[in-house]
Amino acid sequence: MKALEDKIRAEGKILPGPVLKVSSFLNHQMDSDFIMELGRALAERFRDDGATKILTIESSGIAIAVAAGAALHVPVLFAKKHRTSNVSGMLYQTLVHSYTHGTDYTVVVEREYLKADDRVLIIDDFLANGKAVEGLLDLASQAGAKVVGAGIVIEKGFQEGGEKLRADGLRVESLAIIDSMDENGIVFRDC
Ligand code: 5GP
Repeated sequence: MKALEDKIRAEGKILPGPVLKVSSFLNHQMDSDFIMELGRALAERFRDDGATKILTIESSGIAIAVAAGAALHVPVLFAKKHRTSNVSGMLYQTLVHSYTHGTDYTVVVEREYLKADDRVLIIDDFLANGKAVEGLLDLASQAGAKVVGAGIVIEKGFQEGGEKLRADGLRVESLAIIDSMDENGIVFRDC
């Protein structure tokens, strides 16, 4: 998506990791008009897949998931970060490794909001090593729900997540895929 690539080039900052900081429009301050546009663009790619629910992960996926949910007119469920792994039987829970924080954390969803007859569209802001998406796939699988695909705003194509998830048969659609980013600039893949 050209507008997204332009915005990343203009406003993105490359931090060690490498981590792309896009706090001016996506991860801290949010450009609401642009986020709605991104959500619509993701929704368009899955328009015919009959999603009944969008599933994302707290916290940076929520805004984009709501934008996509509004375009598809389906509810948005976000996996909540849970302080302990000692949770009640009314929840589905899974462990996720955080790329940006370098720690593991448990996320949960209440069972009543994720059912076997749901068709789930996973949405997230970034795809790096794929751990967040894998956690969401695990939650959907515990519920017996079908996953129609994953919609991502920015995929870091030089990390393993996208390739691995696609090899496992998941349809992954990203609005921008970065093949490399360093002091020489950012190279995007055609997508
Ligand atoms: P993964 O689980 O695929 O390794 O990483 C995806 C998650 O880590 C996303 O939910 C996002 O919050 C965070 N993340 C990974 N890489 C980046 C990055 O380069 N920039 C930002 N802002 N977040 C990232």
